[in-house]
Amino acid sequence: MTVTTSDDTAPAVAHFRFFELEVVRTRRLGHSFLRVTFGGESLADFRSGGFDQSLSLFLPPADQEHTVLPSTDEDTWFAAWRGMPDEERPVMRSYTVREQRRTPEGAVEVDIDFVLHGDASPASRWAGRAVAGRRILAIGPAVAENKSVRFQPPAATDAIWMYADETALPAAASILDRLAAGTRVRAWFEVPHEDDRIAPDTLADADITWIVREGHGRERTEQVLSVLRSAEPPAAEVPYVWLAGEAGTVRAVRRHFVQERSVDRRAVRFTGYWRLGASEEQLLAEAYAGKAPSEDPASEL
Ligand SMILES: Cc1cc2nc3c(=O)[nH]c(=O)nc-3n(C[C@H](O)[C@H](O)[C@H](O)COP(=O)(O)OP(=O)(O)OC[C@H]3O[C@@H](n4cnc5c(N)ncnc54)[C@H](O)[C@@H]3O)c2cc1C
Repeated sequence: MTVTTSDDTAPAVAHFRFFELEVVRTRRLGHSFLRVTFGGESLADFRSGGFDQSLSLFLPPADQEHTVLPSTDEDTWFAAWRGMPDEERPVMRSYTVREQRRTPEGAVEVDIDFVLHGDASPASRWAGRAVAGRRILAIGPAVAENKSVRFQPPAATDAIWMYADETALPAAASILDRLAAGTRVRAWFEVPHEDDRIAPDTLADADITWIVREGHGRERTEQVLSVLRSAEPPAAEVPYVWLAGEAGTVRAVRRHFVQERSVDRRAVRFTGYWRLGASEEQLLAEAYAGKAPSEDPASEL
């Protein structure tokens, strides 16, 4: 939970807080995605910053209907959550706010698009079984300007280049939703199945190449790199590059833009949304131990 002060005397503003999300309905999108629409009274204070706004979901163990945490207090929840017995502890997973809106009745709804990648993984399994009325907890944005919005192109940007795999497609689509008419975008979206090529609604001047995955591991990265190498992004003086998806592929794509296309590394925003062979617990444990690769644009490749 982040608390910031604009100067030493200003009152602290909590950027994030706990929300209780209740499943309102679900809808299958394409081959791999399930859209879960959440409601709940606490969402009245939810303030998505849009673009690639993310949040942390707490999902209950398979034998529990709703998420229960011993504390949702800003100062004590983390220790209380970590102290729970393994079999009772909800898993924490990162997801994107695909859309926040107000219904005609005035209620707030939030959509999250889950990639269904099998029953062995807790979040994918939870989403596959989600039914109306199920309640989970989330740490989400209470103010629209918060550090979980990573897409921050400088004002001088004259073209946006994007790469996303399926886990980052909700974020990419949400970014495209909000770009001004005529913004020049060149995007490469990698999906597991032809039916996942769901064209985002956008006013931007977006040229999208869909890459339907053919292999696994290193092969998938090579497929993406070969498509990128054969493409000619539009000429741009000040490009901004946004990359998100499987960590190994994201690193390789970042290297492509910095080393092969001479993009200033500070203009590349890259995020590993997941890593082949590692659960989010393992990634978090590495982050706590200081071993995770830095997302700092200035970091070494
Ligand atoms: C900022 C951010 C935003 C994200 N937004 C979204 C989003 O909107 N929608 C979305 O679906 N995901 C999103 N993700 C990715 C999601 O958090 C991970 O895919 C997460 O690992 C899923 O949790 P799980 O319990 O299903 O699998 P885990 O228990 O974390 O992983 C179990 C195994 O499954 C593998 N795995 C994880 N995800 C996938 C996958 N998609 N396909 C194949 N294998 C996988 C892991 O490598 C591991 O071997 C986001 C991640 C971040 C960091």
